[in-house]
Amino acid sequence: MLAFKLVYSDAYYLPIGSHVFPAEKYRLVRDRLISTGVAEKTDFLEPQPATDQDILLVHKPEYVQKLKTGTLSPREEMEMEIPYSRDLVEAFWLAAGGSILAARQALCEKVCVSIGGGFHHAFPDHGEGFCMIHDVAVAIRRLQRDDQIRTAMTVDCDVHQGNGTAAIFAGTRTESVPLPSVSGSTLNPARSPRMRGAHAGEVFTISLHQHNNYPLYKPPSSIDVDLPDGTGDDDYLAWLDNALSSGLRQFQPDLICYIAGADPYREDQLGGLDLTIEGLKKRDELVFRVARARDIPVMVTYAGGYARNVDDTVTIHSNTVIAAGEVFGVPTVA
Ligand SMILES: [Zn+2]
Repeated sequence: MLAFKLVYSDAYYLPIGSHVFPAEKYRLVRDRLISTGVAEKTDFLEPQPATDQDILLVHKPEYVQKLKTGTLSPREEMEMEIPYSRDLVEAFWLAAGGSILAARQALCEKVCVSIGGGFHHAFPDHGEGFCMIHDVAVAIRRLQRDDQIRTAMTVDCDVHQGNGTAAIFAGTRTESVPLPSVSGSTLNPARSPRMRGAHAGEVFTISLHQHNNYPLYKPPSSIDVDLPDGTGDDDYLAWLDNALSSGLRQFQPDLICYIAGADPYREDQLGGLDLTIEGLKKRDELVFRVARARDIPVMVTYAGGYARNVDDTVTIHSNTVIAAGEVFGVPTVA
């Protein structure tokens, strides 16, 4: 039995047919966690779909209306890069409900992982990059509305920049302040990552991502770390450590929303970084250790993962739960 809950539903499955996004990964992760004894069936909570009111805390009424009536234009559907259906709309409403539940649960138990979600490319008025609804943003806005949190920090470690997150929380930003650079980095200076940042809102956004990758236009996060192609474990972890330290020096969140994309993996079909499965687990541990040391609750969503072998994606996502268990401990049996 885990010391925290996992949020999952079979209906997290995205009905998108044959697609580079392995929509069956959520069920496979759940099955792996149970078959390996990491989790028991009682560790899982079943989410309810978000309400339309919840979705409207982030998304424009015109966009929500189009989704509910199936009246997206062909161009809007193409930009989303997943085929529209009513079932797909329901899956995204459920993902948002799952993130709301995971965020609330994290406030009680310090950590909670939703075996889904992390649709960080959804904007208030449109979907793109396999993302229809920004479940994490909906969760943050809902908890703020309920006065359960005032501030939040998103820590986005998907290989792709969190453009939707940056756009949604861009509200009140000030000019950039210089950030300290990583010492001891082994990167060639000519290919060094850039870290840039500025912030003054109630949601602080951090994104570590491959610079030469989708999205082409990257709206500014509070901190963006633009990593060069081929960045490996050590440099990645150093930059993550640096970004977390810088962010938490400037900002005290009531909740961390960790977007634990599996696609920085070296075998990913849509990514160009060079992280190993072990390096990705260390990444998760680092986020959890920092959150625990500062006593900040952390909710987790999965976002992308397109490994040539879907088994690797399942391993990376399962390791996120294992890492949370190692950092947040297991309860002693009475
Ligand atoms: Zn991604």
